Amino acid sequence: MTGPAAHLQEQHTTSGGFERYELEAWRDAYGVAAGVTARSPDADMSVAGEPPPESVRARWLQLSRAAGEGFRAVVVGRQVHGARLQVTLDAAAGLTVLEGVDGHLTDRPGLLLAVTVADCVPVYLLEPERGVLGLLHAGWRGIAAGVFETGVGALCELAECSPSSVVMHCGVSVCGSCYEVGPEVVEAVAGERPGAPVKLDLRDVLRVRAEALGIGHVTISSWCSAHDHDRFHSHRASAGAPGRVAAYLGRPTA
Ligand SMILES: [Zn+2]
Repeated sequence: MTGPAAHLQEQHTTSGGFERYELEAWRDAYGVAAGVTARSPDADMSVAGEPPPESVRARWLQLSRAAGEGFRAVVVGRQVHGARLQVTLDAAAGLTVLEGVDGHLTDRPGLLLAVTVADCVPVYLLEPERGVLGLLHAGWRGIAAGVFETGVGALCELAECSPSSVVMHCGVSVCGSCYEVGPEVVEAVAGERPGAPVKLDLRDVLRVRAEALGIGHVTISSWCSAHDHDRFHSHRASAGAPGRVAAYLGRPTA
């Protein structure tokens, strides 16, 4: 794989009564639900509060039902922009919230993995042969902490595969022209320190890292959370207003 990654766009859907954007190509080719919820005043997917209020719990259960009949559990983390991942092989029915976890993996059907985002990149990973799934929350801090390499390594261990068998999609997040950062951020994720603030494309950083690992196939969403902030939450475009959309990935039970 060389050069820029192909673009792949999530399509708008309201199936199951939940407005969201989903990769029809992944449902058709691999039988998995992969998407992101739409921005809406009554669909903020933040999971602050312990335990989450009943309204939040109900919203997450509605999402898992909308994603497919074969989902009985949804697993999301309270993210810390780190590199800690959780392999989930079983979960109680309904919503499970994990503390301090920025990514999830499973080889089991019926579990919907989720991360919340508002500019950071949701990274969808799939080993299609065995149906092993990984979903990572990757902002610049997580990327600098190694969440991507840790996630791919854990996925390949679970699937007993090499990265060349892995399919990857960088989902809805802030684009390069909407994300100006200081030199220290560029140095942390790309190793070179520019002399002044520059525009940084996190999804391209991930593409380069994927290429270095030998990942078989990479696509990048053509949506930008900031350009398209009427559809998605953007931390930047909203000047830091609260609110998150949920990225999700799972294989329904047959
Ligand atoms: Zn943009």
